[in-house]
Amino acid sequence: MTHISELAAFACDPGATRGRRHAETPAPTRTEYQRDRDRIVHSTAFRRLVYKTQVFLNHEGDLFRTRLTHSLEVAQLGRSIARSLRINEDLVEAISLAHDLGHTPFGHAGQDALNACMAGYGGFEHNLQSLRVVDKLEERYPQYDGLNLTFETREGILKHCSRATAQQLELDEPGGVGARFLRREQPSLEAQLCNLADEIAYNAHDIDDGVRSGLITLEQLRDVELFDRYRVMAQAEFPELGEPRLHRRLLYEAIRRMLSAQVYDVIDATRLALDELAPLDAQAVREAPTLVKFGDAMRTGSQELKQFLFKNLYRHPRVMETTTRAQEVVRDLFAVYTSDPHEMKATITDHALSSEAPVRARAVADFIAGMTDRFATREHERLTGRRLFE
Ligand code: MG
Repeated sequence: MTHISELAAFACDPGATRGRRHAETPAPTRTEYQRDRDRIVHSTAFRRLVYKTQVFLNHEGDLFRTRLTHSLEVAQLGRSIARSLRINEDLVEAISLAHDLGHTPFGHAGQDALNACMAGYGGFEHNLQSLRVVDKLEERYPQYDGLNLTFETREGILKHCSRATAQQLELDEPGGVGARFLRREQPSLEAQLCNLADEIAYNAHDIDDGVRSGLITLEQLRDVELFDRYRVMAQAEFPELGEPRLHRRLLYEAIRRMLSAQVYDVIDATRLALDELAPLDAQAVREAPTLVKFGDAMRTGSQELKQFLFKNLYRHPRVMETTTRAQEVVRDLFAVYTSDPHEMKATITDHALSSEAPVRARAVADFIAGMTDRFATREHERLTGRRLFE
């Protein structure tokens, strides 16, 4: 089952890519999607993911997930499902590694604060920002801004988008990555898979990080049917895992079993949907409903787990307390840079000095969004004299 097999007819074929916005000659040994993946791995934005918060702030501990390790876990899950479905692993890897490039420092707290600061200028949304990073903000090539990735990778990166934003994108690139939101179509199977692999990855690793941090307990997790089923199975097979000193192994064994079950569930449910539709090519997939999915029971179990994490981890008083400080950092930075763009020092751009307020604000948002947690903390201290994080 794991041997290398031919791509299915409905997979994205790098030989049939819709191509790049700036035409390039093909690479001698790599496919177009391998090339995209390599460009992402070598980008500056990718390296910054090491120091960006997933749920726990970067300084809180060395073993918690960061945006980088999260992205690697998404790529791992995505690739293993892709291979089984005979869809394009390289494209899945490229989209997975790029999907969080647009995240601000301090996780969702940072994104919410920056979105509020940008309310008068079109807002801030991390998905759209990931696309901005690969299309415009990376400065690595002499001929163009951004990484000049293929349509299929860019399509996968732009997971959500409002109608108004889609119309904007459409003006800039007619029939491009915004068009599917206006036509209400789906992205490729590879992109659909990355969405689901993202959810599978964070649900699992947030249990691990949550328990490690002491904010949630194995006791509490007994209420989560999807997780507890595998804890019970693991303990039935290895009764010694009931001893408190082996609880970490019990946790890992339960998470491992839950992850495998989710991966097999996606493969089964998606195969069923694909068999029923029998799409003749990758385009037929875009015109169909979402095909990469959980079966009904797993969908319910996964939603319950997500709700549990939301209530008990993401809204935990200790997480909320850092959230408040993180929002303060972002708001203060935005206020200082918009009133005095020269504080952006060496990174100042023509846009930051523009006489048009929306252009200036967007340049400031790009600068702040690109920051790591620790750079934002240091800049905030330099500009306000107050240190809000270690
Ligand atoms: Mg993610």
